[in-house]
Amino acid sequence: MDFCRKNLKSLVLERSDNLRATGAAIAIFTNGWRALDQLGIGELLREKAVPLKAYVCYCNALRSSLNVYADYTASQTDHPSSFTAIPMYMSSVREIYMDDGVEETIPNGKDELRCVKRSDLIKALAGGLPPETIRFGCQVFHVDTDPESSNHVLHLNDGSTIIAKVVIGCDGVNSIIAEKLQLKAPRIFSTSRARGYTYYPNGHPFHNEFVRMRKNHVLLGRLPVDDRLVYWFVGRPWLPEDRENRSDPKDIIETTLKALRHFPTEDIEMVKNTDVRSINLTRLRYRAPWEVLIKGLHKGTMTVAGDAMHAMIPYLGQGGSAALEDAVVLARCVAQEMDIGPDGSMILKKHKLQKRVETAFGAFVRERRWRLWSLLAQTFLEESRVQTKSPFKKFVFVCLLKVLFGDPLGHAQYDCGSL
Ligand SMILES: Cc1cc2nc3c(=O)[nH]c(=O)nc-3n(C[C@H](O)[C@H](O)[C@H](O)COP(=O)(O)OP(=O)(O)OC[C@H]3O[C@@H](n4cnc5c(N)ncnc54)[C@H](O)[C@@H]3O)c2cc1C
Repeated sequence: MDFCRKNLKSLVLERSDNLRATGAAIAIFTNGWRALDQLGIGELLREKAVPLKAYVCYCNALRSSLNVYADYTASQTDHPSSFTAIPMYMSSVREIYMDDGVEETIPNGKDELRCVKRSDLIKALAGGLPPETIRFGCQVFHVDTDPESSNHVLHLNDGSTIIAKVVIGCDGVNSIIAEKLQLKAPRIFSTSRARGYTYYPNGHPFHNEFVRMRKNHVLLGRLPVDDRLVYWFVGRPWLPEDRENRSDPKDIIETTLKALRHFPTEDIEMVKNTDVRSINLTRLRYRAPWEVLIKGLHKGTMTVAGDAMHAMIPYLGQGGSAALEDAVVLARCVAQEMDIGPDGSMILKKHKLQKRVETAFGAFVRERRWRLWSLLAQTFLEESRVQTKSPFKKFVFVCLLKVLFGDPLGHAQYDCGSL
């Protein structure tokens, strides 16, 4: 879409037969909204997603510190007594940073946080493309590069081939293009996430806030999309009997409800009443932070973006927004290498194409490396802190987080710049 806004003709090959929206909904922080504004679809999507006022965590380890929060009333939230509730019904976004009873509240009034239905996001992104830019049902299963011409030959599922001068692999965690660039396959994490959304015809009972609750290695997240739709996710250890991308929605709901046995009733009801078309179970994968610093993320006129480049555990909820940032930065870097045509449109001179695209991809990778390292490293440390049982390791992870990422929501303040 960014390339189209820069008058660069491109073709999108998509293996699905239509616009795919796996994963129900997506949380988007300030940095993601900045990128969406650059793409010209921020306002359209804001109309479909309410602003979330607070970022609230419930954790049973904090019971002893309850008296810190004078505004707490049990009746306000009606949660079972095993949870300590720390409501933050204020007009700003806040992160509550907790670790074994030690707590710190870091106000951050500058953030915009909304949860958008993935189908709305994908429709808005695709809506900005000229007709026939997306070719559906086209799965790339192999790529060759001709050493003479440097053209790339994309082999498709139907036996046909496409010759491309430039290839950008936005093909997700199992990227064929990342493999061609000799990047390792993303690592498999020990937990899985079930996701879905629940429709409340008469309005949902929750505050417009992002809530996360953790108990016994089970994490429940809840974000309203609008007054009637609520997105939820549940993280739990991956079970041996779980098959990759478990396909039966009823099975997913059943195993999710088992994991939620000790959670608040209204949340259990929410999962029970999930729209089965939205349900999905994924085993989490991630790229190690150092890989984006040391690995070659482009070669000649081929590069990767999005999860293909930087798959991350959704602890910070930044994978999708980072992919949107990639799009803005990549289009800008390519545009800077172009000439202006007589009609004001941008053109790449044929004989210089390869050199200029290589330069643009080099600039793109240089600009993205540290940003991606910081997202991957913060995610890695946060998740390791939560997972480890060793108090010493927990202490080390907390110290590293404090030193490297003083503001836990600082990642949302990033500005990828203009197109
Ligand atoms: C459980 C979970 C929760 C998440 N929550 C959030 C969140 O709240 N906020 C956030 O910002 N991010 C979140 N993320 C991360 C976010 O979903 C991803 O970072 C984002 O979807 C990456 O987009 P992408 O386009 O790079 O990859 P994908 O969304 O995976 O898209 C890749 C596309 O390429 C197509 N494709 C793949 N292979 C081929 C091929 N060989 N040939 C042709 N087409 C192909 C696929 O069909 C697909 O359409 C979450 C991730 C998970 C797993």
